[in-house]
Parts: sequence; C-alpha cells; structure tokens
Amino acid sequence: MAAADLSLIAYGDVVAGCERCALAAGRTQVVFGSGSPDADLMFVGEAPGFHEDKQGVPFVGAAGQLLSKLLAGINLSREDVYVANVLKCRPPGNRDPLPEEIEACEGHLFKQIELIRPTVVATLGNFATKLLSGKPTGITRVHGQEQEVTLGGRTVLLFPLFHPAAALYTPRMLDVLEADFGRLPDLLGRSPEPPPLEPEPAPHAQPVQLGLF
Ligand code: URA
Repeated sequence: MAAADLSLIAYGDVVAGCERCALAAGRTQVVFGSGSPDADLMFVGEAPGFHEDKQGVPFVGAAGQLLSKLLAGINLSREDVYVANVLKCRPPGNRDPLPEEIEACEGHLFKQIELIRPTVVATLGNFATKLLSGKPTGITRVHGQEQEVTLGGRTVLLFPLFHPAAALYTPRMLDVLEADFGRLPDLLGRSPEPPPLEPEPAPHAQPVQLGLF
C-alpha cells in the first residue's frame, strides 16, 4: 500500500471521532468517503442522507445509484474515483447544511483533496460548488464549465455538475447531467496548465516551395 493511501486511512480514523459541530450528536457514524485513494477524479456532494448515515458510505441511496450509472456511461466505476461530501455527518431530516457546519467540516474535505491529489474535482450541486470555487455563483449558471482553482496546495480543474438527486425525476435535467458527464474523459486527459502550442507552419508553405522545382 502506498504511503498516501495510509495517510488517508489514518486521517479517516481521526475524522471518525470528530466533534467539531452539533451534527456529531445525531449521527450513526461519520461518512468519510469511498473509492480509490489516489483517484484522478474526485466527486464532492453535499452531505450524507439516511442510507449513507446507516452504511457509512457516501452516495449509496437513489442519487448514488444514478451517480454509478452516469459513471458507467463514461466507462468508469466507483472504484476508479473517490467520492466524498462537504459534510461528513447527516443533517437531521436531510435539511441543507448550515454555514457553521460547513465551516466546521471544510478542513476535512480540504485535507482529503490534499491527500488524494486528484486532477479533476467534480462538485455535485450548489454547496460543494460554492465552497470549492470560493464564489457565490449557483450551479445553474456554472455547470459544465471547468475552472482552475487551487485546492490542497495544487492547481486542479473544478468541474461543477448538477446534483444527481436533481435529475432523479426530471428527464431534462438528466440529459444535461449526462452531457456534462460526457466531458469528463476529456478533462481527465487534459493537464490544468497545458504546454504552449508549437507554432504552426505557414499554410501552403510546402506546396509553394515545391512548385519552384
Ligand atoms: N447526497 C449527497 O450529497 N451525498 C450523499 O452521500 C448522498 C446523497
């Protein structure tokens, strides 16, 4: 096992006992994250729901099944990527995360990103997108538009996506999500800072020269 894998496991053990906010009192367990500890592609959702809280794994409910299906559509599995949430504990009744909960928990997510070192971080929904972009612009305006951000001390490509839960019962939203997912393989093949392009030869330079002989 690589050293980075051990660090992520060790950090997960620390977070398992977290009491930084009031959600600790109502949780079954901390939902740290799952998947490959050295994934190139990391997904960040909002917070664990009922099933995630019970099983200790993110995205295992209906939205999670759709996430797995969308991944399969681009020939990836849950084992190829890493999946985590902004909040590691379930808010009661699945209510939205509170600002103080996000503030208390965000250090855990930033540390995960630092340890995993993904090249692309795909945010699922508004909360993850606003936190990791550092901007208040909502998902409807920024989905499908990659942006370079510095996370965990490195430049990564942030790729905002609609939350799969939003697409569960809205076919039009599912189309948008599928189209945005379709861009991920391209983004994964692309380095955040591409090298400068080679200068192109002047058009038709060769034929004109050849014609002189
Ligand atoms: N929704 C999320 O944002 N995260 C989960 O883990 C499950 C549902």
